[in-house]
Amino acid sequence: MKIGVVGLGYVGLVTAGVLSFQGYDVIGIDIDENKINLLKNKRLPIYEPGLSEIIFSDKSKIYFTNSYEDLRDREIIFIAVPTPSVNNEIDLSYVVNASKSISSLNKNCTIVIRSTVVPGTAKKVMGLTNLNVISNPEFMREGNAVYDTLHPDRIVVGGKNAEIVANIWRFTNSPAIITTNENAELIKYASNSFLATKISFINEIANLCEKIPGCDIEIVAKGMGLDPRIGDKFLKAGLGFGGSCFPKDTKAIASFAESLKVELKIVKDAIEVNDERIQHAMEMIKESAANKDISVLGVAFKENTDDVRESRSLLLIKELIKNDYNVSYYDPVVKEEIENAYRCKTAEECIAKNENIVIATEWPLFREYERIMENKIVIDLRRILDHKKIKNYRGVGLGPKS
Ligand code: NAD
Repeated sequence: MKIGVVGLGYVGLVTAGVLSFQGYDVIGIDIDENKINLLKNKRLPIYEPGLSEIIFSDKSKIYFTNSYEDLRDREIIFIAVPTPSVNNEIDLSYVVNASKSISSLNKNCTIVIRSTVVPGTAKKVMGLTNLNVISNPEFMREGNAVYDTLHPDRIVVGGKNAEIVANIWRFTNSPAIITTNENAELIKYASNSFLATKISFINEIANLCEKIPGCDIEIVAKGMGLDPRIGDKFLKAGLGFGGSCFPKDTKAIASFAESLKVELKIVKDAIEVNDERIQHAMEMIKESAANKDISVLGVAFKENTDDVRESRSLLLIKELIKNDYNVSYYDPVVKEEIENAYRCKTAEECIAKNENIVIATEWPLFREYERIMENKIVIDLRRILDHKKIKNYRGVGLGPKS
């Protein structure tokens, strides 16, 4: 089967890489020339563990291009372009433009929408292109994207002849939900909103723990998570959810629901609780730091990625700068320069620079530096260090000493 993948970001590149590694003939297209040039030179434009090994493997049959012309002979074309949030609503223009470009050249293919889109989008694209459109949302986690795409918890496909796409993913041996376009589209939003709600829920309980001597959210969450009805995943208190998905997807589904006169109160509250996390962290820092010179560990929105979209850490750094803090920062993979802050080359340099240390991203690597932080003032916004080992420790969800 001849496959095309449109949009070679975190989702498209992994989809293209995994399918070509499985033996499919894949053409990947992106409008970003830099990306294509890098890929042609066997270099990845993003950081994603394990992706290089599969995408540039001799086993993979994959061709990268900037030209939609190259999609003329493709039978199945996955669309994995951005669906950003504009004024809290989903911006479908990238999906629409990509679909129109495909249909102007290829009248026989099936379009598969892998981007996260609100219910009704596949039908809209069908109307615009006269092509069959199958919905196949992606559930992978950045940082684990290759593993998740090879071993997904489930395959969700919707629309006419959706079995074609279910068959493409059959090698994963994962359970498949074959349904309508609209169900498939909504499953993605309901899943992301539920996970975001779980995070906001545990962050609210963390706020409560901070007021109760003897309470620790880590223990409370562990005790809750052992109940299989609750589960231990996404029950980690911290600085809140960021990244390219949860913030925009929760807003998109809430405003989509509003357009149908339905109020998603829980989702809206989850967003509000999340939005309060930065100010909450600022208060902790103001109360605990010895002065305004501060070292922040972590910039990525979570561990194992270079993605800083909607990163809470980045937002916190900007808020600190706005409040006249002198910020030094370090991230193992994000090399972005932040205006009015100093980027350290190593974690050791960052820790040595100031008395006040903030842990903002949960990179496991930072645990290795616990010993050299023992005598510092540590504000652990991700609860990754052992609070008993650090003299001056303040952590999210940790109550006053009883
Ligand atoms: P991304 O921004 O990393 O990549 C999108 C790519 O599409 C970019 O390289 C861009 O240049 C390209 N592009 C834009 N318009 C194009 C066009 N007309 N033709 C060809 N290429 C074009 O985005 P992403 O993180 O991979 O997300 C893509 C979609 O998948 C979004 O809807 C997102 O919500 C969804 N999603 C993302 C994740 C994730 O973890 N990143 C997980 C599940 C679902």
